[in-house]
Amino acid sequence: MKRANPNPNANRNILLITYVIMGAFFGLMVYFCHFLFTDREEVMNNSYNARLDQFSDRVIRGRILSSDGQVLAQTNVGENGEELRVYPFGNLFAHVVGHSTKGKTGLESLGNFYLLSSHGNLMEQVFHGLADQKNQGDDIITTLDVGLQHTAYLALGDRKGAVVAMEPDTGKILAMVSKPDYDPNPMSLDASWEMLISSNNDQGQLLNRATQGLYPPGSIFKIVTLLEAIRENPEGYLDFHFDCSGVFQEGPYTIRCYQGTAHGSQDLGQAFANSCNGAFASLGLTLNPESMDQLTRQLLFHSELPLSIPYSKSSYNVAAGSLLEKLATSAGEVSQWEVLQSSIGQGKTLVSPIHFAMITSAIANGGILMKPYLIDRVQNEAGEEVKKFLPEGYGSLMTAEESGKLNERMVQVVTEGTGSALRDAPYQAAGKTGSAEFETGKETHAWFTGYAPAEDPKLVVTVIVEEGGSGGRTAAPIARAMFDQYLLR
Ligand SMILES: [Zn+2]
Repeated sequence: MKRANPNPNANRNILLITYVIMGAFFGLMVYFCHFLFTDREEVMNNSYNARLDQFSDRVIRGRILSSDGQVLAQTNVGENGEELRVYPFGNLFAHVVGHSTKGKTGLESLGNFYLLSSHGNLMEQVFHGLADQKNQGDDIITTLDVGLQHTAYLALGDRKGAVVAMEPDTGKILAMVSKPDYDPNPMSLDASWEMLISSNNDQGQLLNRATQGLYPPGSIFKIVTLLEAIRENPEGYLDFHFDCSGVFQEGPYTIRCYQGTAHGSQDLGQAFANSCNGAFASLGLTLNPESMDQLTRQLLFHSELPLSIPYSKSSYNVAAGSLLEKLATSAGEVSQWEVLQSSIGQGKTLVSPIHFAMITSAIANGGILMKPYLIDRVQNEAGEEVKKFLPEGYGSLMTAEESGKLNERMVQVVTEGTGSALRDAPYQAAGKTGSAEFETGKETHAWFTGYAPAEDPKLVVTVIVEEGGSGGRTAAPIARAMFDQYLLR
């Protein structure tokens, strides 16, 4: 009996085993790289990091989705493998979702690491690696609500300004609109880029006014002045009384109520509801400037905000030094003028819309500020969760008792005062209007900040309309549209 020839399939088997071992080795490498880069998330999220570009050679950038799964950004791959980032909603989410050509902004920058990470099936990744194909990057599911974003966008119309909507008990940012805007789709962005960055362009389309815009707060700052009055006199703060003739004279200084309206006899609740400038300027003179300065710092003026997208810091009065120092060092009259002005949100005080949305959120949430956030979770191509972001408390901006007292006064603004646009709503809203002067001879900026329902707040909305005139007439109706859309859907 002859011995059989060596198995002709043996060589092929050995080759196969070699491939399997190579595949397993490659898989380990993928795993190793994954852990290496996960630990370096902070570094990798920097949009200027060149190593991320190497990542994009191996991964097709993931999608950015709304909270209900609608596509806000995705990468389409053509037949020749060319990739095109598309934004199906065009201008609607321009600032908050951002763009990824011409640098990265908004969520495209904030979520860069996740979008270029791939947590797909490991075998598939090994296969892609061997076949020199790209893996599909992970998707970001945002906190953004398409319906609310659309409502804010339409309500703001062609006017310049910003709208922010937040969930006060979680910190989820539900909508963030800034106007004027631009189309982040690459072809359109390429075509308009020179115009957008031109020094002759004073429109600021690329600026996210919701977080980077700084405006005089005008009368929405009376929330802060009122809180200081409550803090200094918790039991008797409502005993304040003022007779308004429309013009308040203090020494050489004159403070006028909006359009010279004479409010007549006002207690503090009425003065707040009607936004009486004379009453609040005179109230401001009775407050302790050092304590007021401390309060503004507790409310995050001059501070970093717990926010992971670019923003501008708010300032109270003159940015450097406490008001007390200034009172001690500068001429008395000048300081008195500063006190009169800052009590009604004028003078040199500047705020961003997101900052006032955060203060308003704290009031709506029993004094506790929840950190605002935009990314709810990250999931892989198959829809499996890779990372989940949970609501996080930032801290207490005021006591629960103080927030309760502010809530009563902000309800009164709607039931009796300048918040009349919300008066007949089927829910009880609370808020404060503002009409902020910023340049002599120009219309005031129109503000509204508030929440609803007052007894169990679900939504905080802060609106600014540049040169919109009266906050009650221009900004409050935009907030009304937002509350209606969200609470009556
Ligand atoms: Zn008045």
